Amino acid sequence: MYDEPLVSSLKSIVGSDFVICHPDDLIVYEYDGSVDKAIPDVVVLPETTAQISSILSLAHEKNIPVVCRGAGTGLSGGSIATHGGVQISLSRMTRILEIDPLNLTALVEPGVINLDITKAVAKHSLYYSPDPSSQKSCTIGGNVAENAGGPHCLKYGVTTNHVLGMEVVLEDGKVVELGGYPEAQPGYDLRGAFIGGEGTLGIATKVLVRLSRKPSITRTFMAIFADLDSASTAVTQIIGARIVPAALEMIDALAIKAIENARPMGYPRDAGAVLLIEIEGLAEDVNEESEAITSICEELGVREIRYSELAEERERLWAGRKGAFAALGSLAPNYYLVDGVVPRTRLPDVLQKIAKICSDLDLPVANVFHAGDGNLHPLIAFDERQPGSSAKALQAGEAILELCIEAGGVLTGEHGVGIEKKEYMPLMFTPDDLSIMKAFKQAFSPKSLLNPGKIFPDGKKPTQKASIRVGSFSTTDSDVWI
Ligand SMILES: Cc1cc2nc3c(=O)[nH]c(=O)nc-3n(C[C@H](O)[C@H](O)[C@H](O)COP(=O)(O)OP(=O)(O)OC[C@H]3O[C@@H](n4cnc5c(N)ncnc54)[C@H](O)[C@@H]3O)c2cc1C
Repeated sequence: MYDEPLVSSLKSIVGSDFVICHPDDLIVYEYDGSVDKAIPDVVVLPETTAQISSILSLAHEKNIPVVCRGAGTGLSGGSIATHGGVQISLSRMTRILEIDPLNLTALVEPGVINLDITKAVAKHSLYYSPDPSSQKSCTIGGNVAENAGGPHCLKYGVTTNHVLGMEVVLEDGKVVELGGYPEAQPGYDLRGAFIGGEGTLGIATKVLVRLSRKPSITRTFMAIFADLDSASTAVTQIIGARIVPAALEMIDALAIKAIENARPMGYPRDAGAVLLIEIEGLAEDVNEESEAITSICEELGVREIRYSELAEERERLWAGRKGAFAALGSLAPNYYLVDGVVPRTRLPDVLQKIAKICSDLDLPVANVFHAGDGNLHPLIAFDERQPGSSAKALQAGEAILELCIEAGGVLTGEHGVGIEKKEYMPLMFTPDDLSIMKAFKQAFSPKSLLNPGKIFPDGKKPTQKASIRVGSFSTTDSDVWI
């Protein structure tokens, strides 16, 4: 709802060019990469911590909800303003403030794109390790809020293992520092507690990240299997042999078809599944691990193994995987991307059950996922123009998450709870667990004004009008519809 005094106060904080309140302009801020939509009352684009502090003090005084937005690539509805109010977009806070190659750290603003950190420090032979597949567009602030993972987090750990500290603005506008350098900090680990807070605990305005040294050798394998079962068994056996690859990713037959339809990458169209395996380190270790991986794959009847150490060829092997979600647009106008985790040993069995859930509902499903972590990403293809189709996709997603929990897994590996999974929290947590989490949230945000309507169950399911944007394909391309 348009609130003239609020809008003029916000304009006086950030300047009138950086407050958006026309309904046509607000539509751009109604969605992220998930199934839900909601329009904020006003969007404000601050440039400094002081401005964010003033915006939060104002909202606190007037009891107005505030939702913060990075790049809007989130897949659980985190940046959706379900309660209206003020949305703070961090798209102007994109400066890399300091690079310290001796202490292996960089201090960045929250709107910095993940991959831009690696680009900025490459001249020091350093990189920022967590690499979500969205790393060309997602922001470090969004990564902190979701504790983002990525293909290379199997060996090196997720965001929380690479963020040393943060400057945070709390609900009432107070600015605090959490964690910092050196790494060992006395007292409670509030840095760790804030990471994964999904924007409900405060707004990170500066982030101190750990930088990593580039390995001397990186070798990427594409192991091509005739079926999904052998590929899944290979995953379990590789880790069981005490080899922890830098990355161990699975791409199934339908995903390969989508990738090759979208932009041919040389993935084998007739394969049942491929594993992308990356190992890195010193030459001797890489050679030893390569031999062990090859023999495991051969014993399981691998059809072919391609590999490369050349940057350009490796990038080509990865390009298909990294573009796989968007490529799903070559199969259907919409997809619902589910995020769950199971113990690795349960992969073959759980993947078969996922296929059954989806075939019973007559929904095609592709799988592209961080297999080494057991972090599943079934992509359920559907066409929202068909009546009931979106509801069926959500029904399949729910059944898949229940299956993950039954298999001893968890509700989300990296995309967060947001709106999407809040009603499923009781599948994993007791009422006591949830009230402890709520009490923790209230310690940071006593009025619960920050990102309300997320994480905790409130009886409201994601909208049945799921509308999930996919690649740039025309939805009338019936020749590519499966
Ligand atoms: C094609 C594709 C591939 C993806 N692959 C991966 C993957 O491999 N691994 C993975 O983990 N995720 C992946 N994601 C999901 C998404 O990119 C991540 O969750 C990412 O961390 C979101 O960052 P963002 O800047 O887009 O945040 P947004 O979507 O804008 O926001 C996400 C949440 O962060 C909060 N937030 C944003 N900035 C701040 C801040 N400064 N302080 C406090 N809270 C903040 C928001 O309020 C919201 O709750 C993928 C998404 C897409 C579309």
